[in-house]
Amino acid sequence: MWDKERSWTLGSYLDHGGYQGLERALTMSQDDLVALVKASGLRGRGGAGFPTGLKWSFLPAPDGLPRYLVVNADESEPGTCKDIPTMMANPQALIEGVAITSRAIGCDHAFIYLRGEVVQVYRRLLAAVREAADAGYLDTGFGLDGRQRLRITAHAGAGAYICGEETALLDSLEGRRGHPRLKPPFPAVAGLYGRPTVINNVETIASVPAILARGASWYNAMGTERSRGHGIFSVTGHVTHPGQFEAPFGITMRQLISLAGGIRPGHQLKFWVPGGSSTPILGPEELDVPLDYESVGAAGSMLGTRALQVFDETVSAVRVVARWTEFYQHESCGKCTPCREGTYWMRQIMARLEAGQGLPGDVEKLESIASNIAGRSFCALGDASATPVLSGIKRFRAEFEAGYTTPAAELFPYAASAIVESAR
Ligand code: SF4
Repeated sequence: MWDKERSWTLGSYLDHGGYQGLERALTMSQDDLVALVKASGLRGRGGAGFPTGLKWSFLPAPDGLPRYLVVNADESEPGTCKDIPTMMANPQALIEGVAITSRAIGCDHAFIYLRGEVVQVYRRLLAAVREAADAGYLDTGFGLDGRQRLRITAHAGAGAYICGEETALLDSLEGRRGHPRLKPPFPAVAGLYGRPTVINNVETIASVPAILARGASWYNAMGTERSRGHGIFSVTGHVTHPGQFEAPFGITMRQLISLAGGIRPGHQLKFWVPGGSSTPILGPEELDVPLDYESVGAAGSMLGTRALQVFDETVSAVRVVARWTEFYQHESCGKCTPCREGTYWMRQIMARLEAGQGLPGDVEKLESIASNIAGRSFCALGDASATPVLSGIKRFRAEFEAGYTTPAAELFPYAASAIVESAR
């Protein structure tokens, strides 16, 4: 309903069947709700793809004290652009999803943590929460005994990629510096304020109302055997019409590029990533891989957040990896040595190679540093920083080695001039 007039208002949402899912949820027990979401096959849409109903069922038995729902809206992976548009175009779907999930886990205070930079989204979210509350949708049916009113707090973070990591997000929400926590204990046992907490992504929670309204089998009938349902695929880069496409899991990149109007006229696809900058690079030969968690994994990458970035033949792979490496170095929280030091070294080497001033052995050194970050860091950001470097060298080693003598801007003059042009 993103294209409907004033789609973000409660009135528009109700005109399109909004809050029917919550109506049904309020007639169901908490156990039945969890079972229904399990049966739908919904998996977390934040990248990891963990089964949502199963995650909800990990909360320990009620002890009379609070338990929380936290929605991770800290979308900031380069290329990812689905949660922010969802909250802009249809915030009521998220709020209804929050209400249903809170009902399912026995919570009466939910939090939505989003990036402070997107102030227009924050304002829209605040207005939408107010609208839903004023209309009585959050009045009763929540908490452990199902008789409480639901409170929803939208919290604007200061803007750090690490705060998208669920435990760093919790620290930030509690008012501390966003650093990942040691796990276990997992948030389901000791999360926000040390209490049992479910943390789900925006798209995951916004998918729940339709599952309630239309049934688990409706959702389950879409997608592939182990990646059920549908999701938002964000296609950006060198296609004619970049944008978000809602499609069943199992759609291919070839089909999505076609929906996006094809590669921009006169050019050919060089490489693409399926799930943002932290997922290994794929090429034209993988265009027909079904975009589901298992098939993309088997093809050597990860579906991640379905941030599909498309690069044509004018692009220097070294330049792209250099930009991503700068991002990860800037966003490294500094808590652990492999990531803090390794991203700094990788950034310097990438800058040398991009400038055509690489030192002998730089490509091997990059491989060694990245391999020592991956799997040895405290949180997934370290692994994420190593991925573009390792997969870039694997696919485009000759381009990286050309960086010993030739600047990327000389090898790919079209891309360089386009950047200068857009900066003017
Ligand atoms: Fe921080 Fe990077 Fe270590 Fe994660 S991997 S804890 S972001 S320094």
